[in-house]
Amino acid sequence: MNEKIRIVIVGGGTAGWMTAAALSHVVTDKVCDLVLVESDAIGTVGVGEATIPAIKEFNDKLGIIEPDMMKKTGATFKLGIEFDGWGAPGKRYMHPFGSFGKSFQGMDFHQYWLKVHQKGLAEPLESYSYSIQAARQGKFTFPASDANAIASTYSYAYHFDAGLYANYLKEMSVGKGVSRIEGRVTQVKCTDDRARVEKIVLESGQEITADYFIDCTGFRSLLLGAELGVEFESWSHWLPCDRAVTAASEVMSSMPPYTKSTAQAAGWQWRIPLQHRTGNGYVYSSHHISDDEAASSLLHPIQGAPLSDPALLKFEAGRRKVNWKGNCIAVGLSGGFLEPLESTSIYLIQVSIQQLLNLFPDKHPSAPLVDEFNRRIDLEYERIRDFLILHYVANGREGESFWDDCRQMKFPDSLREKISLYASRGYIDQYKYGLFSPSSWLAVLMGQVGGARGYERVCDNQSVQRLADRMQSIKHSIDSGVADLSSHREFINDYCKSQIGELAHG
Ligand SMILES: Cc1cc2nc3c(=O)[nH]c(=O)nc-3n(C[C@H](O)[C@H](O)[C@H](O)COP(=O)(O)OP(=O)(O)OC[C@H]3O[C@@H](n4cnc5c(N)ncnc54)[C@H](O)[C@@H]3O)c2cc1C
Repeated sequence: MNEKIRIVIVGGGTAGWMTAAALSHVVTDKVCDLVLVESDAIGTVGVGEATIPAIKEFNDKLGIIEPDMMKKTGATFKLGIEFDGWGAPGKRYMHPFGSFGKSFQGMDFHQYWLKVHQKGLAEPLESYSYSIQAARQGKFTFPASDANAIASTYSYAYHFDAGLYANYLKEMSVGKGVSRIEGRVTQVKCTDDRARVEKIVLESGQEITADYFIDCTGFRSLLLGAELGVEFESWSHWLPCDRAVTAASEVMSSMPPYTKSTAQAAGWQWRIPLQHRTGNGYVYSSHHISDDEAASSLLHPIQGAPLSDPALLKFEAGRRKVNWKGNCIAVGLSGGFLEPLESTSIYLIQVSIQQLLNLFPDKHPSAPLVDEFNRRIDLEYERIRDFLILHYVANGREGESFWDDCRQMKFPDSLREKISLYASRGYIDQYKYGLFSPSSWLAVLMGQVGGARGYERVCDNQSVQRLADRMQSIKHSIDSGVADLSSHREFINDYCKSQIGELAHG
């Protein structure tokens, strides 16, 4: 029989408890012992309220009951992200969690939309997205299960209180046998060649050994970065925002089912509606605005009274050169950070956990397994990075120094190729692994670059009129379906009304 593996997770933020919950659910105590060390004295990063639809898969795999989780974390539904002022001041578009229209005889919807639009016979692309129409009207329901229905063409995510979500997973994990040790790690001891972690030492003097250490210590990266010396590769030349000020405000009475991202002078501002408060933050470049100016700009456009003073966070975009070295695997901020523009950090935690489970090691790590893990994580980071950069380089805010600098930056070739393929005939490659899907790219490209010049020639198999009629019928189905939906707030009240006291009235 194989020997039992001892895994110690260091850090109890969202990353630590997601890791503990997933491992304790999938890997039984016959295979490994799981310990999580966290320090009450050292807080968590304390932000991270918006997610993408992959989180639902994670929760479902763990057997989490959705309304129960939502009640306990003050969660609302999220159908996408609205970008306000990115393409140009005053111009809005939405990145929905779903497709535009429906494909037809092997053609992507947007291809025939391009053909019909170029003849002046199509409505704006957003009119053919079920999720955008529902989001804009403040409505929500679950996607239809009939794959032929237009109401099946979207998915959803959550806005939640990430601290409460971590607590929720903590309860689950401890219930499944994860041992929690409270204490501050004061020393990490590794082998002389810095190839493996041997043990961690707590303030109390307690020494903890393990076969594997999962570094979930946040930006500190105590094990992988500080002790094993894995370098941080900065991407700040592409993603220049390096700070955020955050503040909660009163609950919004309208409770829109989407995140809002509004371009500001030196970055952008998020608004995330939860059931018990609204999350706000201004992500900015400290080379273009001072912290005080950023804090006052944040409070200025907030709807409803602020409930807290602005809090400042500093960060740098990039990732560790490898996320797994020796017997240490980074999950969460210890492995890298990409700003929250597309709510991808919790997703990256999830991917690291999933890949760790897919490539679950024996008592001793094998090099091919470690290399494959690092290759997959790299790919995820790079693909998200390119998608985020697109938002910045394709801005239309002329005359503002931050945005002018972004438009003039030299960006990765992988992104340049993607933009030029799209611009000529609307072609968007489907990645085999990693984010984002073609409809996500399409939303941002359309919103900020504009319509492609041409379209795929295969569309000429169909007449403009036939395609226009088909589009009209899709639009009609969307309009009538969305008209019948209840409001997001009513839906939440029926399905998962929060058990957390509202912090204020909307
Ligand atoms: C401005 C901003 C906005 C964000 N918004 C989003 C968002 O909308 N959506 C999203 O998906 N993500 C978002 N994120 C990212 C998200 O907050 C993190 O990915 C997530 O919270 C995971 O953090 P973590 O667990 O890796 O680190 P942390 O939350 O920092 O947790 C670190 C843990 O390590 C422990 N620890 C550290 N040092 C020691 C020590 N010496 N001894 C013992 N324990 C120790 C701490 O006590 C803590 O428990 C945002 C991040 C920032 C900066």
